[in-house]
Amino acid sequence: MISENILDIKGRIARAALRAKRDAAGITIVAVSKGRSTQEIRQALEAGITDIGENRIQEAATKLNELRIQRELRTHMIGHLQTNKAKEAVQLFDLIQSVDSLRLAQSISRHAENLGKVQEALIEVKTSPEVTKFGLLPEEALKIIPEIAKLKNISIKGLMTIAPIVDNPEKTRSYFKLLKEVFDKINKLPNMDYGLSILSMGMTDDFEIAIEEGSTMIRLGRGIFA
Ligand SMILES: *Cc1c(COP(=O)(O)O)cnc(C)c1O
Repeated sequence: MISENILDIKGRIARAALRAKRDAAGITIVAVSKGRSTQEIRQALEAGITDIGENRIQEAATKLNELRIQRELRTHMIGHLQTNKAKEAVQLFDLIQSVDSLRLAQSISRHAENLGKVQEALIEVKTSPEVTKFGLLPEEALKIIPEIAKLKNISIKGLMTIAPIVDNPEKTRSYFKLLKEVFDKINKLPNMDYGLSILSMGMTDDFEIAIEEGSTMIRLGRGIFA
């Protein structure tokens, strides 16, 4: 059951935080609801979930607009975003986690300005070369973020990464360590007028390792809904 899954996950988060001597209150759960019905999402919201992640604009539009009428929720875009869908993403999401180019950031900022919004976003970083096509390499992220920081209607809050699928979750640790290093480096750049606070890393199979390495936001699909 979804409510039991969530209870179990909260216990595991608390234990991982304790091991890392961190406060579990600093870790946000994003329930990844791609492919799930609004009825399932409602159950998660009733069990205390506040943040919902989707990876496709069309599917998200249908479901989130229906859910928003009834409840308050924070919405996250976690899938690859094409520049020509930036306007819809700005309309739909509180946090766009998958910004991976200056061009996309510029487009988001422009649409956000038209809508009278400052769009919060994360930069997607490719910490492992084989995992996905998307995301900036760490050195590219370091170069581009000061440029994005100059745009008025997009506010970069942190970094996101997807670790590769491995047989043993322990093998994901180095990717999370790398993202934390990039995060710390960016926060030390001169000419950055805002600090990053969100490290979105960790999914169903590896969230405990991610928490030990400093994650502040975990994205869970199967762990909640399966
Ligand atoms: C699907 C997805 C998740 C959730 O994956 P699970 O392994 O089901 O927890 C998290 N992040 C992204 C970017 C995803 O696409």
